Amino acid sequence: MPRLHSLAAAVLLCASPAFAANQPTTIAAADIATATQLRDAALQDESAYQFIEGLTTEVGARLAGGDNDLKAREWVIAKFKALGFDKVWTEPVIYPKWVRRSEHGEVLAPFAQPIALTALGYSAATPNGGLEAEVVGFDSFDALKAADPARVRGKIVFVGARMHPFRDGHDYGIGSTVRTKGPALASHMGAAAFLLRSAGTDSNRLPHTGVTDFTGATPIPAAAVSAPDADQIERMLKSGQPLTIRLALDCGVDGQYTGANVIAELRGSRKPDEYFVMGGHLDSWDPGTGAIDDAAGIGIAVGAAHAIAALPHRPARSIRVVAFANEESGLFGGKAYAQAHKAQIAKAVLGSESDAGADRIWKISASVKSEARGAIAQIAEVLKPLDIEYAADEPGNGGSDLSAVHAVGMAGVSLHQDATRYFDWHHTANDTFDKIDAVQLRQNVAAYAVTAWLAAQANGDFGSAPGAFAQDDGKH
Ligand code: ZN
Ligand code: ZN
Repeated sequence: MPRLHSLAAAVLLCASPAFAANQPTTIAAADIATATQLRDAALQDESAYQFIEGLTTEVGARLAGGDNDLKAREWVIAKFKALGFDKVWTEPVIYPKWVRRSEHGEVLAPFAQPIALTALGYSAATPNGGLEAEVVGFDSFDALKAADPARVRGKIVFVGARMHPFRDGHDYGIGSTVRTKGPALASHMGAAAFLLRSAGTDSNRLPHTGVTDFTGATPIPAAAVSAPDADQIERMLKSGQPLTIRLALDCGVDGQYTGANVIAELRGSRKPDEYFVMGGHLDSWDPGTGAIDDAAGIGIAVGAAHAIAALPHRPARSIRVVAFANEESGLFGGKAYAQAHKAQIAKAVLGSESDAGADRIWKISASVKSEARGAIAQIAEVLKPLDIEYAADEPGNGGSDLSAVHAVGMAGVSLHQDATRYFDWHHTANDTFDKIDAVQLRQNVAAYAVTAWLAAQANGDFGSAPGAFAQDDGKH
């Protein structure tokens, strides 16, 4: 193998660290062969399904800072230990605790009737006895932004923007913009309260909750109405008669809460300080049991780690699984992890996180240094029989919780799940265990196992360094 010999000679002649950093990252043929076997073995994995079933059944909904927060943490710690990880620990995560006590909405005029709605995370409460006001409607966030504040002052703003289902879930950009930014904008314009058509793609009479952001604004009551109720509101607005709604939301911030990220590790055999990280978030919204969002994410990582642990040898680098605290109300767990580990970010060689359910992965993309592109292509080759395509020109920040870690310099790889069904159930009472498709889940486990194991075995790194991906556009 003359090419390899001359490469080895060149390394000896120019063994400066800078030169070594520019060497292409590669994966040995024997490791590819093991990964192929690992992939096929992981397609039989049952531990991911059992994990999701257990967490959603034995704990259920896991609102951050709520009664089940500590219960979920203790459940996951016990489960990680029972699964045989070499080390399990927690790291604190502090955030303002938001509580939901009760919520009610009804049309008073022109056609009196109740409406199905749910308060958004960080919504203010209505005054005692509720709030009654006329509704002013808009088709989009931009239409509200362009409106004369005089039209909005003292009124209940309603934004009826719609989302449609797509495999890459891109319409969530529309729904999440209205939900996260709409209430603060309405507050700035002097509105009394804010309602939106749920950020979802279903037509069930179930509203989709989710966080809103009042940074720099005075919190006002803010809620999502179900899609059929949004249709109802739009028909009434179209009638031209004044539409009056009564809202009664009892909710709000109730001090600070100290939760924790729960971390488990399989110890690497040769470079134990370096690690591949994967995971999901342990918290969920309260109406469902948080199966697709995001017991699935932790379950997939657990399944992948379990399959790797069954191999005769530990990989060179460690495999880390993180159950992140409070993703839902503002990525608090991911941000705390980034803060705690940014000084040693080069040790986090690569990361990937699932937070889009458990349906089939159809695409892999990565944000890594250019010298590691070949290794990502090698990983993608092993994933090909799982019907996963490699989008070589697209970035991959690793996932929602890992986006903060990526922003401080961790290389990321994104395994994109089919999100066609996801926003039918996301943040609703319908996010329950029955939505997990066992066959599609196992395909996820296989893809994560292959990616984690090959990254942990790779010769060379993926470019993790302080600030390395600061210019990344953060898409995943
Ligand atoms: Zn999530
Ligand atoms: Zn969510």
